[in-house]
Amino acid sequence: MIISKREFIKFSLFKLFSFLFLKLNLKASIVKRNTKVLTNLIFFEHLISDDHPENPNRIKYILNYLKKSKNSSLLEIVDTNRDVKKWIREIHTDKHIYSLKKSNPLAEKVSRYAVKVCLTGVDKIMRKQSKNIFCAVRPPGHHALNTGKEEGFCYYNHVAITAKYIQKKFKLKKILIIDWDYHHGNSTEFFFYNDPSVLFFSTHDQFAYPGTGSPKRQGKGKGLGFNINVHLPCKTKDKEIIKVFHEILIPNVQKFKPDFILISAGFDSRINDTLGCFHLSDDCFRELTKILMKLSKIYCDNRILSILEGGYNLDGNAKATLAHINELNNLN
Ligand SMILES: [Zn+2]
Repeated sequence: MIISKREFIKFSLFKLFSFLFLKLNLKASIVKRNTKVLTNLIFFEHLISDDHPENPNRIKYILNYLKKSKNSSLLEIVDTNRDVKKWIREIHTDKHIYSLKKSNPLAEKVSRYAVKVCLTGVDKIMRKQSKNIFCAVRPPGHHALNTGKEEGFCYYNHVAITAKYIQKKFKLKKILIIDWDYHHGNSTEFFFYNDPSVLFFSTHDQFAYPGTGSPKRQGKGKGLGFNINVHLPCKTKDKEIIKVFHEILIPNVQKFKPDFILISAGFDSRINDTLGCFHLSDDCFRELTKILMKLSKIYCDNRILSILEGGYNLDGNAKATLAHINELNNLN
């Protein structure tokens, strides 16, 4: 086939542009994958009772929204046989574990899988396979004490176990745990109340379940000053919580200098939640995430693992989660 010189130039230019377009697109997709969303199909199982607000649809809606927003490529199903009992025992007693296995074997298994997902997330961050990670897990964990039974829909405290794992396995000393769930993370406070290696910062309504979270509770012994409770009233808006992050969290983090940041990401603090009464928007979670990402960049090489806690308005929970994930992916 004979082609004219003009056609040849046109063809070459077309090829060049196609190549550059492809390259730019590839580059954009690589740069844009700073986060991963980890989950497991077992979270579609386990239900406390029919019509219970803490149900498998919470995860289904998040995954559907992720798909709709064309961010499915961030999703990874964690399929692991790893044994996490050793790490659960860092926080929970054998009596508690045994009691859960006996009284509620499915709930115990599902919560244990949440631990597996969280620890796998830490491994991925430490191996630099992802800058940060969101764990789409359920049930929540931050109310789980050692009572041998479910507490506030929780069985094992996933964030507390993850903090111990980071410290013992990777020898990173100082862990910052941020809990922006509407409810106070009483179990997380309980397990680290005397511990200066974990800075626990919680914003919540102290008059809601479980009735703890007084700002007067600041830690004990060597842990004094490392437990920060901020009570926020009903109808709290974006501006108010963002102000708290700027005025209370940031100065404390500047002193603490964390090696790793964990988020107890509960979205029942979002407006229109069925169990909460705050008025926070999706943009607010974007802003809070941005603040934490800036801190993680300064102190800990961007290391953030975020773990789903509460959030019971199915659409609202998914929308706020998406805003959070999009910001986690938006690393500058
Ligand atoms: Zn909650």
